[in-house]
Amino acid sequence: MKERRSVQICFPNGAMKALSMSYDDGSEHDRRLVGLFDAYGLRGTFHLTSSTLGQDYRVGRDEVARLYQRHEVACHGATHADLGQLAAADVDRELRDDKAALESLTGQPVRGLAYPFGTHDARIETMAAAAGFAYGRGVTDTDDLRPPEATMRLTTTCHHGQAMDWGRRLIERPADALQWMRVRGHSFELDGFMTADRSKDWAYMAAFCRMMAEASGIWHAPLIEVLDYLAAAAQLQRAEHGRALHNPTSITVWVRADDGSTLELPSHATSAAIT
Ligand SMILES: [Zn+2]
Repeated sequence: MKERRSVQICFPNGAMKALSMSYDDGSEHDRRLVGLFDAYGLRGTFHLTSSTLGQDYRVGRDEVARLYQRHEVACHGATHADLGQLAAADVDRELRDDKAALESLTGQPVRGLAYPFGTHDARIETMAAAAGFAYGRGVTDTDDLRPPEATMRLTTTCHHGQAMDWGRRLIERPADALQWMRVRGHSFELDGFMTADRSKDWAYMAAFCRMMAEASGIWHAPLIEVLDYLAAAAQLQRAEHGRALHNPTSITVWVRADDGSTLELPSHATSAAIT
């Protein structure tokens, strides 16, 4: 009898590394940042505060769908209120109103959230999950590349000020385990606003994007795509006495065998190729 081969989950097309860029507040500087991401194939999540769109330095409501077309539009609270200071009914309104407004602007489900001011606790996380969010991102940088475990307490690898260093580490790391680099920031910082470090400017971001685009084996995806992918991968089932893998989800999942070969498992399909 043949031995069961062990398989390892990998990202699409056999990649072991992923990069997600996560930006808050919907500043008009997002236009230039999206232009860079689109030019280099990087992909981001943009956390918007719906009631402020079109005001001051924010992007306009009518440009949201087109501007962020290749990226994820996610919530950041309807008015950017500190959820830790609000009664339950008001937290709920901040979350649900923002979600509904952004869904109406994009015509897409909006399932991501970045907590305004990074404020969250068990009460807020539970309410966010109940309001239909798949994840809640804070501002806790873990300085590592491990995929996180608690999606309603989603951490980041680093602020974009450290993205160049972490990007080099991601590229140089051996591809022996899944690694997911999550970068957070505000596009206005690249323009020199509200930042102590003016060296992290547009030229810096362009150099970072170029470096990551030229590296091989990196999957560029917004936060929600990576989380949905990891959730699907966690549902793979052994079939036919362990000789096959069944993918019961609606997402194509990739696995890697010990000999380094990769296998694509289409949605709702069973593959016997791992024996
Ligand atoms: Zn914010």
